Amino acid sequence: MVDISFKSLAVAGVRSLQAYQPGKPLEELEREYGIRHAVKLASNENPLGPGKKALAAIEQQLATLSRYPDGNGFSLKKALSKKYGVNMDQLTLGNGSNDILEFLARAFVASGDEVIFSEHAFAVYPLVTQAVGGQAVVVAAKNYAYDLEAIAAAVSDKTRLIFIANPNNPTGTWLTEKALRDFLKKIPAQVLVVLDEAYYEYAIDPALKACGYTSVMGWVAEYSNLVVTRTFSKAYGLAGLRVGYSVSNAEVADVLNRVRQPFNNNSLALAAAEAALEDEAHLQHSLKVNAEGMQLLTQAFEQWGLDYIPSVGNFICVKVGDAGQIYEALLRAGMIVRPVANYGLPEYLRISIGRADENARLLDALKKILNA
Ligand SMILES: *Cc1c(COP(=O)(O)O)cnc(C)c1O
Repeated sequence: MVDISFKSLAVAGVRSLQAYQPGKPLEELEREYGIRHAVKLASNENPLGPGKKALAAIEQQLATLSRYPDGNGFSLKKALSKKYGVNMDQLTLGNGSNDILEFLARAFVASGDEVIFSEHAFAVYPLVTQAVGGQAVVVAAKNYAYDLEAIAAAVSDKTRLIFIANPNNPTGTWLTEKALRDFLKKIPAQVLVVLDEAYYEYAIDPALKACGYTSVMGWVAEYSNLVVTRTFSKAYGLAGLRVGYSVSNAEVADVLNRVRQPFNNNSLALAAAEAALEDEAHLQHSLKVNAEGMQLLTQAFEQWGLDYIPSVGNFICVKVGDAGQIYEALLRAGMIVRPVANYGLPEYLRISIGRADENARLLDALKKILNA
C-alpha cells in the first residue's frame, strides 16, 4: 500500500480546521459513567421537546417517505412568507441555519477574502470561513458583548461578510436597535452583514421588553446587504430535524439557492417546521418555561455570589473558576453543561435553561460541587 497523507492533500483551509465540538450526547455520558436519567443542558435545545402539531405533521408525512421532498420547500416558504411579511423569493431554506452560514461563505468568500466576526462568537463562523480559504478577522469583544464600532472599523477592501449573532451564543448578549442602525449605516453596501437570529424568539419575549433587543428582519428592504438567519432548532424544539432559513434580498437568495443542494431539507423536517410555526401555544409555553428557569438560575447565582453574563437567550454563562473541573464533576453527577474555553471563556460554563425539575437538579448539583 502506498503511504499517502490524505490530510496533506486537503485544501489549505480545511487542513487547518478543527471539527466543531458538539455538546456531549446524553447516551454517551450514560454509557461512560454508568448512570441513568442524565440531564443535558449543553446545546440550547428546547427542554420541552417538539410541540404536538409538529409531531402530528411528521406522522402524517411518514407515508410519503419514498418520495423526494419538495426541493423548493414551497409550503414552508409560503407559511414563513405569510408570517413574517416577506416575499417567497427572499427566503432560502437550510438544513439547519448552519447550512445557510455555509452557503454564504461558499457563495461570497474566495480564498484570501476577509470575514469579520467577534471574539466569543458562534463557533460555526470561523469554521465556514476557513473551509473556503477565507481570512477570519476576529474583533475583540467589549465586556463580553459585540463591539460594533470596532467591527465597522475592521472593514477593509477585502471584507465580504460580517457575521453577527443577536443574541450571541455563547454569551447571550444582545444588540439594541440604535446600535444596529448606527452600525448598518457605516457598512459599505457591497459587504454582506449576516444577522444570525437563532435565539430571536427568546429575546422578543415580552418579559424582556426593557432589554432593547430588536430583530432586523424588517430592515432587509432598506439594506440590500442584510441577511437575517433564523432556525427551528431552538425555541421551536426541532434541532434534530435541521431546519433553518434566511431572509435576504431576492438576488442574494438566488445566489444562495445556487449553492444549496436540491433536497437539503427532508420532507419530515419541512412538514414539522411548517406545523411548528402555527403552534403558538407550544412556543409561548416554551418561552414561559425559559423565563422562569432563567430567573431561578440567575437568582441562585446572585445568592451564591457567582458572576454571570446577563442573557436574553435560553442559556447563560456563569463564572465558576476552574470550569473544566466543575464540568467534570457535573458530568459525574449526571449533568451535561458546556465548557466554553474554546470560545475564550475558560472560567465560565454555559448552561442551557431546562425544565423546572432539570434546573433544580442542576442547581443542587452545582451547589454541592462548589461547596465541596
Ligand atoms: C444554535 C445556533 C444556530 C442554529 O443552528 P442550526 O443549524 O439551525 O441548528 C445558529 N446560530 C447560533 C448562534 C446558534 O447558537
